[in-house]
Amino acid sequence: MPEAEPALAVAARTDPGQKRERNEDAYGYRLTENGGVFVVADGMGGHAHGDRAARLAVETVLERLAGRDPSPALLVDALEEANRKIFQTARAERAEGMGTTATVLVVDFPYALIAHVGDSRAYLLRNGLLVQLTQDHSWVADRVREGLLRPEDARAHRWKNVITNALGTFPEVEVDLLGLRLKPGDLLLLSTDGLHGVLGEEAIARVLTADLPLEVALDRLVELANAWGGPDNITTIAVRADRVPAGEEKPYALLLSGDQPVYIRARSGDTELVLPRRAPKYRLSEVVLLLLWLGLLAYVLLSQRP
Ligand code: CA
Repeated sequence: MPEAEPALAVAARTDPGQKRERNEDAYGYRLTENGGVFVVADGMGGHAHGDRAARLAVETVLERLAGRDPSPALLVDALEEANRKIFQTARAERAEGMGTTATVLVVDFPYALIAHVGDSRAYLLRNGLLVQLTQDHSWVADRVREGLLRPEDARAHRWKNVITNALGTFPEVEVDLLGLRLKPGDLLLLSTDGLHGVLGEEAIARVLTADLPLEVALDRLVELANAWGGPDNITTIAVRADRVPAGEEKPYALLLSGDQPVYIRARSGDTELVLPRRAPKYRLSEVVLLLLWLGLLAYVLLSQRP
């Protein structure tokens, strides 16, 4: 029997950008029998501390999830452990301000779980529409949620880099968690703010829907972010589910039985993310009007016959 095509297509890129000497981002992933684990992290703290924090986050999460059945609880646990490790390292080395964001994607067919801390993001491209799944833990995102700042003003705000939650900066960390049932063709994109702080959703969507091989699409995204000034380190992982194997029944499946991504744990109190729908070509009211008009025409024509 010929071997089945792999269910997942994966590509990853990291680039220092145009303005920074160091690359303080890190990423890593491991494919598993039933999907895989994917992590991006954006370190901070200057000197070598940012890179260390980001790498510690990636390594700890991959180690913690290795060989275990993924679950929402395990994912939170992995990020909490990364937090403890980085916090202790920072204290031992007197590295003030050492910390990192982390966005983790676990594909556990037919589900995807996403956990995050900070302002690195996960997006879902489904049916040609790109949706930001994660909500930034940042000062500007909090103000947008409160209605005090317009989303279009957040990107250029002078406090856009202020994050309100990170791994390693406090003994406790708050982890947001969401999940969804995958559909064939779904593409999940993880990114640090060197990418999404420069490129808006429309630009990202345009590249991802251009029918390019994943590696080429990510090269384009990195080139675009650099062409737009490359003010920060740029890191991104793309994971596309070309097939969605049925998988085993998961204890957490009940949480994700609907058609939409669901927040399992969120600081903002949201319970469900509603994906935008592609607008139908004709609206129902237009179809009804057309039918009425045709009916009237037929009536007039028929009633004129001798
Ligand atoms: Ca960054």
